[in-house]
Amino acid sequence: MPSFVRINTTRCGVMALCRPQCSPKKVRKRHIQGNAPMKYPRAMLTLAVAFCATTSHATTFQANFPSGSIGEVTRLDADGLHWQLALRDDNDNAALPHKFRAWWYVRANDVSVTKPMTLAFTRIGWNYDFRPVYSYDNKRWHYFEDGEARFEPGCRIAEPDTCRMTITKAFDRPVVWIARTFPYTYADLRAYLRKFTFSPYVKRVGIGKSPILGKTIPAVRIASPRQGQRQRIVIHARTHAAETGPSYVVEGLMNALTRNDALGQRLRDRYVFDMVPMHNIDGVQLGNYRTNGSSLNLENRWFMDKAVAFPISLLPEAPEENQQLNRAVFAPAVSDQETPTVLALNLHASNSAPNTQAFFFPHFGGDPARYSSEQSALWRKQLSFIRAVASHYDGRIEQPPADGGAGFLNSAFVESWWWHHQQEQVNAITLETTYGRAGFDHWITQDDLRRLGEALALAIDGMDRPHSRSVRSLDDPARANDVFREPFKPEIYENEAEH
Ligand SMILES: [Zn+2]
Repeated sequence: MPSFVRINTTRCGVMALCRPQCSPKKVRKRHIQGNAPMKYPRAMLTLAVAFCATTSHATTFQANFPSGSIGEVTRLDADGLHWQLALRDDNDNAALPHKFRAWWYVRANDVSVTKPMTLAFTRIGWNYDFRPVYSYDNKRWHYFEDGEARFEPGCRIAEPDTCRMTITKAFDRPVVWIARTFPYTYADLRAYLRKFTFSPYVKRVGIGKSPILGKTIPAVRIASPRQGQRQRIVIHARTHAAETGPSYVVEGLMNALTRNDALGQRLRDRYVFDMVPMHNIDGVQLGNYRTNGSSLNLENRWFMDKAVAFPISLLPEAPEENQQLNRAVFAPAVSDQETPTVLALNLHASNSAPNTQAFFFPHFGGDPARYSSEQSALWRKQLSFIRAVASHYDGRIEQPPADGGAGFLNSAFVESWWWHHQQEQVNAITLETTYGRAGFDHWITQDDLRRLGEALALAIDGMDRPHSRSVRSLDDPARANDVFREPFKPEIYENEAEH
């Protein structure tokens, strides 16, 4: 597929101000293809060059690096200080829904350090306020101040150009990276995992190659080296490529599990943790928001033959990434009677109103007229775990609904797969981090997200301990929701399918 970005100079300011070379025309510039083999062919989509350079700071924008993404770049003034940057569809696939378009990650070169620049990011597929981030070294990220970034009113998702985040800022350095939220690339994951190369508790294996780019999909097993009766916990993240919050949650959790303290020791002795921290590596590398390299949403494609009682294999139409995860982690987990799985966490991030805290999607409910005893048993297990996480995160988890429903049984979510195989024995549940203030008095930081991972470790530690804080909170049903800081927000659960 040809890779190009259209550089539109038709709105190149007032023509009288332009020099002759600024002719109003559309230029289609093919991506520069060097002699070296391209490592990220589909990610190397964008090289936007400002023609019509009337000042010394002829800013250019690029996204030809892992997880980089931007669509059409349009210069809006003669001085090169005002630009419009349209978000790109995953894989440039215009058939995808608007809500599959939320991510950008761009490098700006030759940025003015004397005058403020205005950058309007458009075609955002969601109508919630947020703050983008910037970095001068592509490592340390900062939020734009409230006065510097504004989600413009009047966004109508069906008319994508109306959904705009405008940034106006005098940058301190001529090179700046700007992203929708903290990037977390495949290289970031590999660098993090290298810290555990010599850990006696961490075993790292590749579970397969990503189908398009051939990148190894890493899985990590964390457990004490000693033998003994243990239970299993399965965790996977980054099914949706640019939902980066969960990567910081994974770091916080792994830090807790590998620490040489009483908690780490206890968890490693009692559990085997099987983790796949980056499920959709092609999507991550290619700068996609949601889908894999073939524009598939992996989240609802855990296709199995429901007519079979124990369909260990997925059906052939399930995407390769899910087949690999199933073959290497999930199927062995349900087949291993020695180490029964008790918890399966599916980590995501949700676009939501800025004050929405992290939340879970529990299933079923407690009404005996609607649910079997097994279904209600899973519901209770899920509520208990949610409350435990909240209790270890200063209550910064949204209250679960009064009834989780059974709709997930009609979809091919991974939780549907777990229910079909293991019913209430496995607490299979999705956790959604959020991008906003998330219950804090500031926009959520990477360390806030890592602390959520620590809270997961503490909640897991409480799962089978009758005297733990989390189980005590359930003793008095009338006070069970006291652990949550905020009242129930029904809107969070109104469209469960969108997570
Ligand atoms: Zn997601």
